[in-house]
Order: sequence, then structure tokens, then C-alpha cells
Amino acid sequence: MNNYGIDIWGDDNFIIQKDKLCINYKNKPSLYSLVKEIRKQDFKGPLLFRFPHLIEKQINTLFSLFDNAIKEYDYKGSFNAVFPLKVNQLPNFLHPLIEAGKNYAYGLEAGSKAELILAMTYNNIGSPITINGFKDKEMIHIAFIAKKMGHDVTITIEGLNELETILAVKKESKLELPNIGLRLRLFNAGGGAWAKSGGIDSKFGLSSTEILDAFDMLKKHDIIDALSMIHFHIGSALNSIQPLKKALKESGHIYAALKKLGAKNLKAINIGGGLNVEYSAYKRTTQYNLQEFANDVVFTLKNIAKQKGVEEPNIFTESGRFIAASSSVLITPVLELFSAEYDKKNLRLKEQNPPLIIELLELYEDMNEKTALEFMHDSIDHLESLLKLFDLGYIDLEDRSNAEVLTQIIIKKAISFLEINDYEELKRIDSKIQEKYLLNFSIFQSLPDFWGIDQEFPIMPLTHLDKKPTRSASLWDITCDSDGEIPFDANKALYLHNVDLSKEEYFLAFFNVGAYQDILGMRHNLFSHPTEINVVFKNEQVKCEKILESQKIIDILEDIDYDTIKIKNIFKNKLDDTHYGILQKYLNENSYLKTTGS
Ligand SMILES: *Cc1c(COP(=O)(O)O)cnc(C)c1O
Repeated sequence: MNNYGIDIWGDDNFIIQKDKLCINYKNKPSLYSLVKEIRKQDFKGPLLFRFPHLIEKQINTLFSLFDNAIKEYDYKGSFNAVFPLKVNQLPNFLHPLIEAGKNYAYGLEAGSKAELILAMTYNNIGSPITINGFKDKEMIHIAFIAKKMGHDVTITIEGLNELETILAVKKESKLELPNIGLRLRLFNAGGGAWAKSGGIDSKFGLSSTEILDAFDMLKKHDIIDALSMIHFHIGSALNSIQPLKKALKESGHIYAALKKLGAKNLKAINIGGGLNVEYSAYKRTTQYNLQEFANDVVFTLKNIAKQKGVEEPNIFTESGRFIAASSSVLITPVLELFSAEYDKKNLRLKEQNPPLIIELLELYEDMNEKTALEFMHDSIDHLESLLKLFDLGYIDLEDRSNAEVLTQIIIKKAISFLEINDYEELKRIDSKIQEKYLLNFSIFQSLPDFWGIDQEFPIMPLTHLDKKPTRSASLWDITCDSDGEIPFDANKALYLHNVDLSKEEYFLAFFNVGAYQDILGMRHNLFSHPTEINVVFKNEQVKCEKILESQKIIDILEDIDYDTIKIKNIFKNKLDDTHYGILQKYLNENSYLKTTGS
């Protein structure tokens, strides 16, 4: 048995019941039952399930953590949060998020004009909108208009030129000024892969000299009362709390200094995002717990306020990964086990076989539990020798085929003996014996961070969970790109089941894909997004809603600006009606594979 590290990354969101993986909520339906239901409606290929109840859970958790900390330390400031839209802007994610955040006045953070348009369209009125990133005059003008619509808008400036633009827009548009925030360039950078988001060499934020200049400029133009927030973001997926503590101290002192200088409406410190999500199935990587995180933020800011004699600041956070990651699960059908074609019945033995082939046959027949490992290694050596003999012209294609089949069935037999022992044994075995699982999906489209930054995602099968998985697995996607592979890694060994796909289906799920993956995903090889489904619970009943089918081939081509009318006309002119009709039908289907099991 193997629980695929669900106790490490699962956060009680899923539960293994008998042989199946189930949603640990309400009537606990199995993921497999949902897959069956969707596929009954003829949606093939990969599926992306979104779970709005998990978005809600994360929002509730975030607010209650800070609520607890505020009570514990009798903190006078308030807690506020915004969702950074860059983490997931898609409507079937965003609408449930906005609904779930209503009671908390959970707001949105925008980092581009398009995101700002989304925020001002859909944000609950009264919930904050913060605006980060580089801005031009148009973007700042849009922010002013958002304020006019009644939104609570804070423009966080990244440089002094943005302050000049704000003054220009104010003058020209005669609109009321939104709140202004200052993004700090801190000396204390974050840790982790994204450390360059904060820190003294960061792409973003104001140095201490620029902060003082900004203050002078605000004062001189008599808009110092608009300064309401200071902001930092030290990086994503923080696995340690230490860099945050340092950043809190540094920003706390800057806050106090600006207050003392006379920024009387400065009331908030925005601590950015960065709360971690556990992606590892092998070992916890996060070195803090969530309550500890919230307590440290509140405690540190309280101390500085006390030390400096200023009021305790309101706290804003912009954690996105933490809110979004767990809410989506990608499900991929296994199309093929590479070794399935190697079967004893495919042997083409002759009357006279080369001696090494006879030896392979003997290894296969004579193997027992004790000799399994040794015989398996011998067979791999023999195969290598036989392949050399083939290159030199000493054996023929039939011999070579026999050698390949025999080696594979020896490996399978050996593994069935080794099953009774522990995994350490299997892990030591050569990399040559992995089973390759071909999955109906594109890594580039659905797990871009695996391709781009080696991000690990928890993986597990939906069924067979009552059986011990015995095949060390490498995973292949269906793109024609050798990077479309998740290779076997003995340090993070993935074992899957030996299934006969002609008799049963087998699906793999990838977890924590709700943050960043949807929008970073690319259409390499022209594979578009998977079929998406929102899984909602009404009373005790589970329902699949808002099904968004994977894009049709013709629409993918249209999206990359081909003249699809011309494409169709070419087919129409060159083909008879029957074949034109057949192509029409194919053009209106998605580009994932549709073999059995797909
Ligand atoms: C990306 C970003 C965030 C979100 O970071 P997470 O690691 O997803 O929590 C928050 N604030 C700013 C300014 C960002 O750029």
C-alpha cells in the first residue's frame, strides 16, 4: 500500500476509501465517479476539476488565522486581504472566489490593465482593490475611474515617475484621487525561487531615498493624505518564516518613520503574498505552520508600533498560491503502458536460437524470489550484448525482438517477486526497468511550472489504492517534445500499478494545480486547455457545473489567427462531400487522443 504522500500535501481535502480516492467533503464522492459521469457525456481527454468549496476553505482559513492572532495579541489594527489576479484570472475560478470572499470583504489585486478591468468589473463593492506593477498613464486613469465607480482603490507606486503620472491624471481628469501606496525595496529579501521579487536588487519598489522623495512630493502637492499603505512582497512559496520576519521589522520601522514625518492617513502595511503550499509527496518543505505565520506577523508589527509609539497598522495580505493551488485537480487518462506490448506470446523462437537468447529463456523459467534481482540484472546485460550483436550483423531482427520481449518479461516477473519486499529494494534497481506511462495530456499546457522551473506536483492514481503499486514510473505526455516527460526520480520515487488497459481504465491525478498553471499553460503542439468542470455541492449532492470543453481544433486555429473559412473552403473544393463531412466533424473536436481508455 502507498498513500502517495496525501498526509503531507493533502490538507484533509481528499481521502482514500477502499480502493478509491474520494473528496473529503459532504457525501465524499470518489473522483473516479465524477470522471465516469463526465465521460458518459462524451468528454474525452484530460479533465480539470475545480473545487469551489476548497477556495472557500482557504479564504476562511486565511481570515480565521489572522482573527485568532489579532485576538491573541489584542491587536488594534484590522486584517484585510486581496487575491492577486495573476495567480488565476479564469472566470470559472474567479466567480466562486469572489462569492466566497463577500462576507470578508476579500478584494482583488491587479498587476496589469486587463486585470484591473476584471477587478473593477467583478470585485464586490467595498472590498479593496490594490494595483501593483508598472503602470502607464492609461492604467492610472483606469484606476481613477475605478474609484469613481465606488471602489476602494489603492495605487501602489513602483517608482517616482508613477507619482508624477498620478498628479498629471488628477489634474487632467479632475477625478477624485484614489489611495496611494508605496512599494518598498527592502534590504531583507525573501528566500525561495522567487527571491528576486523583493530585496535590494529587486525589479520592484522604492529605495529609502526614493521613499523620502516620494513623501516630499506628496507633501508638496498637498496630497499626503492619500498615502494610506506601504507594501512589500518578498517572493512566492516561502518555505521559511525568517525572511518575512526581517521584512516585517524593516517595513514596520519605515511605517513608523513615515507616520512621524506626518503621513497621518498612512494606516496599513501590505505584506504581499508568499504563503507556501505543500507540493511534496515525500517530505514536508514548509518550515512553519500557518498559525505561527499569522501570529508572527501580528506580534512583530505590534512590537514595533509599541516601540515607536505609533498606532498599530492594519494588515493586508496578497497571498495567491495559498488560496488557489488546492482548488484544481488535473486528471489524465493513461493511454498506454510501454511494456504492455512485451508478452510471452509475442516470442518468435526458432529451432536454433543464439546462446544468449537461450540463457534469457532459462533466467525467465528458473527465477525465484531469491534470484529475482540478480537474474533481472543479468537479463539487462544480456540484452545489451544482444543489441551489440545485432549491430554487428550476428543476429537477426527476430532474435532481437525475442531479446527485447524476454528482458521485459523477466523484469516484470522479478518485480512481482520483489513486491513482497520494501520499496528500497525496488529503488536500487536500475533505471532501465521503469514502466513508461503514456498520459493523454500536455505538460506544457497543464503543468507549465514542471516544464519551466521543475515544480513538483503531487501525483496519484484515482483507483487501485488498495493494491501495492509496483512499477517505478516515468510519465510521458502526448506532445512531440522530449521535455514532455516526468522522469523517474529515485529520490522522489513514484510507483504506479501494473494495469492491463485492455481490461480496465487507469487515471492519474495531479494536485495543487490551481495556482499559476491555468494561465501560464501554453499551446505547444496546439494542445489547448483540458475540459474544465466545476464540482459543487448542493445540499448533500455533488454536481458537475460550468463544463467548458477543451477547445475544438478549428477554434485553436482561429485563435492563432488562421483564416478558418479559407481552411474549410480548401477542404470543400478538394474533397468529395463524404470526406469533407468527415473532416468537418474532426475539426469540431478537440485535439487530445481518443483511443480506448482516453
Ligand atoms: C505574485 C504576487 C503575489 C502572490 O504571491 P503568492 O506567492 O502567489 O502568494 C502577491 N503580491 C504581489 C505583488 C505579487 O506580485
